[in-house]
Amino acid sequence: MSAGPYAARLAKVRKAADDAGLDALLLSVGADLPWLTGYKAMPLERLTMLVVPADASFQPALVVPELEAPRVVPVPEVFSVRAWGETEDPIEIVASLVRLAAGASPALAIDDKTWAVFLLALQDELPGARWSRSSALTGPLRAVKDAVELEALSRAAASADKVAAALLAGEVPLVGRAEREVAAEIGRRLLEEGHDQVGFAIVASGPNAASPHHEASSRVIERGEPVVCDFGGWLDGYCSDMTRTVFTGTPPAEFSHVYGVVAEAQAAGVEAAQVGRPCSEVDRAARSVIEDAGYGAYFVHRTGHGIGLEVHESPYMVAGNDEPVQAGHVFSVEPGIYLPGRWGVRTEDIVAATADGPVALNQASHALSALG
Ligand code: ZN
Ligand code: ZN
Ligand code: ZN
Repeated sequence: MSAGPYAARLAKVRKAADDAGLDALLLSVGADLPWLTGYKAMPLERLTMLVVPADASFQPALVVPELEAPRVVPVPEVFSVRAWGETEDPIEIVASLVRLAAGASPALAIDDKTWAVFLLALQDELPGARWSRSSALTGPLRAVKDAVELEALSRAAASADKVAAALLAGEVPLVGRAEREVAAEIGRRLLEEGHDQVGFAIVASGPNAASPHHEASSRVIERGEPVVCDFGGWLDGYCSDMTRTVFTGTPPAEFSHVYGVVAEAQAAGVEAAQVGRPCSEVDRAARSVIEDAGYGAYFVHRTGHGIGLEVHESPYMVAGNDEPVQAGHVFSVEPGIYLPGRWGVRTEDIVAATADGPVALNQASHALSALG
């Protein structure tokens, strides 16, 4: 394994840490670790932690249980590996690496997803340290995807698109099947189309479609109702996430109308994702269309979320987030209308912001599919 993208990412993180007055980052089971090293730690009672001193004269060190160490692909020019044996204390090892690089009263940023038990032990071991969240620093950096990441996200989206195309073409039987069976088939198809792992498959039919994060249930899908299918997973470590809503039978005029409003809102959200404009404007643009159509009260979630190694990450397309859209931001645009007790509609694509304007990574049709 070459230093690949990891050396460049680590250099960026260390410079940002230095600029922020931090002495070291301590990264555990969150997505920052695979982003910087290619290694994804298992969430275990045995500590895995990457110690990243801001001072570039100290090499980052990956403290890892000895029995997990064979899973690490070493990149010696980027980080060292400190495997600890069953009778060693990994907290002491991390604390001594911190003291060596940053002294007795360091400013430390720790991964949000570190287990509390490890943070509490580190606080005992390093009583002079000041603590903050590492995501404040890594979130905005990780939000801007490099070429390797854009390529992986495009492949994940293209793979999910093939499953969506089968759904829209009526190749996934719906009527007479339980939502759960359809969800299982969507998962199987994601794997067949190249995904390494299925993340989720929401299949929400009829009144269940009014619940944005409905879990596929034993409800049997009937003729004459909408089915919201929201699915994704991982391909080469990067996530897919897309939603299409189909109708079993001939849709009534009200449904076709609402479907059209959501499609228009989705397109307006994508169009607003111009580099330099606030992320909140993506939400505003999509929401305005839905409000103007009289359904504002029924669009109950933000318009989108960043996506990468995690399915939900920075930047968030939501009112109040005025950080500017940057080239390399990749995020969902997924407005919906949910009529409680009746039904709902959502359309979701992953979009990459570029200097030349937004590019949808998902290409499956937005036309209303009336099936069988
Ligand atoms: Zn969601
Ligand atoms: Zn989704
Ligand atoms: Zn999403």
